[in-house]
Amino acid sequence: MKFGINTLDDLEVKDKTVLCRIDINEPVDRNTGTLRDTTRIEACIPTLRELADKGARLVLLAHQGSDIEYKNFYTTEPHAAVLSALLGREVRFIDDVCGPAAREAIRALRGGEILLLDNVRFVAEEQTLFETKLLLSHEEQAKTLLVRKLAPLADLYVNDAFAAAHRDQPSLCGFERLLPSAMGRLFEEEFGVISGLMENPGRPCVFVLGGAKINDAFLMMRTVLKRGTAGVRGGSADLVLTGGLVGEVLLWAEDADIGEGARAFIEKEGYASLLGAAKELLAQYRDRILLPEDFAAVREGRREEYPLGRIPKSALVLDIGTKTAARYEERIRSAGTVFVNGPMGVFEEEATERGTRMVWDALGDTPAYTVIGGGDSIAAARKYGKTGAIDYICTGGGALIRFLTGEELPVVKALRFGSRLPLPGGRPGSHARAC
Ligand code: ADP
Ligand code: MG
Repeated sequence: MKFGINTLDDLEVKDKTVLCRIDINEPVDRNTGTLRDTTRIEACIPTLRELADKGARLVLLAHQGSDIEYKNFYTTEPHAAVLSALLGREVRFIDDVCGPAAREAIRALRGGEILLLDNVRFVAEEQTLFETKLLLSHEEQAKTLLVRKLAPLADLYVNDAFAAAHRDQPSLCGFERLLPSAMGRLFEEEFGVISGLMENPGRPCVFVLGGAKINDAFLMMRTVLKRGTAGVRGGSADLVLTGGLVGEVLLWAEDADIGEGARAFIEKEGYASLLGAAKELLAQYRDRILLPEDFAAVREGRREEYPLGRIPKSALVLDIGTKTAARYEERIRSAGTVFVNGPMGVFEEEATERGTRMVWDALGDTPAYTVIGGGDSIAAARKYGKTGAIDYICTGGGALIRFLTGEELPVVKALRFGSRLPLPGGRPGSHARAC
């Protein structure tokens, strides 16, 4: 038991049916349907190996998004082949989530066998509408089809999906109401490292925030900046370096001219609604937020840089400029701790990668303890050969950021509940013993 949650050490899994939620959501090649990366699949292997070696009848639940968030979902079939290869034992796949075929396959499992179900997001209640608009409570999530159909077949639930720990969905938070639960090894490690680091980070503690999914970044900025002001040392930011859309929204909020193209893009993405929050942040913490002073755009296929205030009307800025990146490099090299989420620009394209490359190079060199989270941020670290030099690579960008906002993560809350349920065989959960 750690953090009020069972670990795998608390479970006896031999011949028990264990539902294990993992996060193996990977970038998918739009044309071939193959996986472009396997980092997350690799990360959950220790948990799966341990459970299978101990003789569990292992049922894997996972989601796979797509290249277009929430607009299409891919099957998890290609993941079964990767899992099989990495584990060196067969991981069966069934193209069903919780229908009769899936249930029959679960019943037929023997100790040590592993079955991967199809994408849980094929089931409507798992999807974002239920999470964001209807706000199903964990009790309500326990009554959704997925949980109703699968929980009765299982003895235990294990969640190893730290990367999805900020999501409030039935496959993540519903089973814990009904089944004695534990976190997997990856969850235990990621949660442990981040909790420890936030309690006592080396100073100065610098946050580098960029990217294109920025709602949580704004929430988090408010929390970590406020803590610093309130004299709370744990989890507080001494400095925030901004790039990507985070920097652009903050500059717009300051009435700086980031160009028509960038403003239109921010509006299209629905982030103009953050301008109010951005103004508040600037009013209170301007001295601890660094904003870009120059930008890059692409003209006739080539990189062109402009100081702020001289961005041409027709230009769409897609990267921070070299001056800004150099200033950020210095701050990173003299930091004690650096948290990073979101690239500085569209690093996937040669003309707009320099800002991210320079900042990521500094992450590789700095003596500071460096933590990086987010699928694209990690992809950038890989691209620039920095994965070995960064101290901690967190598979969950969204979860990391949400954790830093100070909220209890939905999956952590659910797992704490499920850790209090009696374990099979009448043995009480270790938490119950401790009480
Ligand atoms: P992460 O996956 O690391 O959490 P995000 O998903 O938030 O990061 O953002 C990554 C994406 O943001 C990348 O695909 C990158 O091309 C894009 N991006 C970065 N800067 C900009 C920008 N200024 N304008 C548009 N897109 C950007
Ligand atoms: Mg991303």
